[in-house]
Amino acid sequence: MQLNNSALWKTCSFINGEWVVSDSTYQIKNPANQEVIADVCEITSSQLEQAITTAQVALKPWQDKTVDERAALLRSWEQLILNNREDLAAIMTLEQGKPGSEAVGEVVYGAKYIEWYAEEARRINGAVLPVNQSGRRALVLSRPVGVVTAITPWNFPGAMILRKAAAALAAGCCFIVKPSELTPLSALALAELSHKAGIPAGVFNVVTGSNAQAIGEVLTMHPLVAKFSFTGSTPVGKKLLSQCAFTVKKTSMELGGNAPFIAFEDADISAVVKGIMGSKFRNAGQTCVCANRIFIHKSIFDEVVSLLKDKVESLIVGPGSRPDTHIGPLINSEAVEKVEGLVNLAIKDGARIVTGGKRVKGEGHFFQPTILTGITPEMEIFNREIFGPVASIIVFDNEQEVIQLANQTPFGLCSYAYTQNATRIWRLSEALDFGMVGINEGVLSNPSAPFGGVKESGLGREGGSWGINEYLETRYVCIGGIG
Ligand code: ADP
Repeated sequence: MQLNNSALWKTCSFINGEWVVSDSTYQIKNPANQEVIADVCEITSSQLEQAITTAQVALKPWQDKTVDERAALLRSWEQLILNNREDLAAIMTLEQGKPGSEAVGEVVYGAKYIEWYAEEARRINGAVLPVNQSGRRALVLSRPVGVVTAITPWNFPGAMILRKAAAALAAGCCFIVKPSELTPLSALALAELSHKAGIPAGVFNVVTGSNAQAIGEVLTMHPLVAKFSFTGSTPVGKKLLSQCAFTVKKTSMELGGNAPFIAFEDADISAVVKGIMGSKFRNAGQTCVCANRIFIHKSIFDEVVSLLKDKVESLIVGPGSRPDTHIGPLINSEAVEKVEGLVNLAIKDGARIVTGGKRVKGEGHFFQPTILTGITPEMEIFNREIFGPVASIIVFDNEQEVIQLANQTPFGLCSYAYTQNATRIWRLSEALDFGMVGINEGVLSNPSAPFGGVKESGLGREGGSWGINEYLETRYVCIGGIG
């Protein structure tokens, strides 16, 4: 692969400002054709220990920098990321599969978080409190939590790291991330740029390895780690949360979703179709905020399904490296099997295929963009996160019924509703039991907004002032003897 900046191609962990090799490696494969693209180092247990202890040492000098210095370093990192966006996107497409335009979009989106948090670093304020005894003063300080570890998924190999790291570094924390074993190359390229930007050794570190469980145990249980931040599936998140309990770590958990997308009888139908296309088919349906259960009012059902069918059938499936591709491969063969299994089971239980429904034969992990109707709440596909390009459609009749069905899930990440009725918009904003509600919008995330879920979708928020607070502790200081 030809990069303009060949220094971005890195294949071993980045610890304390150095590239750290090991004897043992594992293979990274291109999901579009299963070719091996890199051999990446397995981190050793002593290297992992070193990552944590050196990050601890790097804390004080990083916190001693003025906010202007920290913000300037973050802004140079952001600028280098933007300058190298085409290369970063090419690496991402190679290891993850998403179309080039989506990969560039992810790089720019991730860089926006650095920009936002470089500015927000200036607004980490404390307080001076009224006191009830003379000779005393009472203060509240916002202190960085300390060493932060993170584990991130493969679906957004760059942005899920930057969303966390930007806030953590701005707050004055040092950060160690284990990217998904499937997509470490994007993370390592970001580390190279952090180094070039002048971010000091030990402040931003990337550890690579295929043994997620063993690495995860250290990152969640090490006593020098103050905070753990995770994005991934709910079952793994629950396990990691329990591991964090041993040392009572602060945690952030961005876990799975089962997003309802509701189109009411008074919705703008073209906006509904656009919203479904954006929310469902982006990243081949592999996002935790993808519309997972699409509820269409019976009075507009036929029209929406017919328009949607035309759009879905015009999607081009292929390698993300081709400029005309809309839908890239799924991440691996297990992902294709899971989606295929859910579709087949739904059909057996009475669902109908409007279009698609099958894996694409040949090399790579491709699945046809699919529309299923006749979905009911009893079906497996209604209750599981699909994580593939399958629009699963349910017909409904009234508002109360659809709100109850939408909330009928242990998940609570994102929800969407399309309506022109202002009073209904208020009711939905309050009644939908999700951390995020998109009204007449299918793609919501932005750096100033709190991204995160309720129920089994997680703890904490990323983005905005809520995101930086995840990396700060509140400290009460009482000064006596003042006279
Ligand atoms: P997904 O279903 O999206 O792949 P996972 O939760 O399996 O989500 O993976 C998200 C991240 O969690 C990845 O970096 C993966 O390596 C890591 N992971 C998976 N299982 C474990 C585990 N048992 N302990 C620690 N990390 C894990």
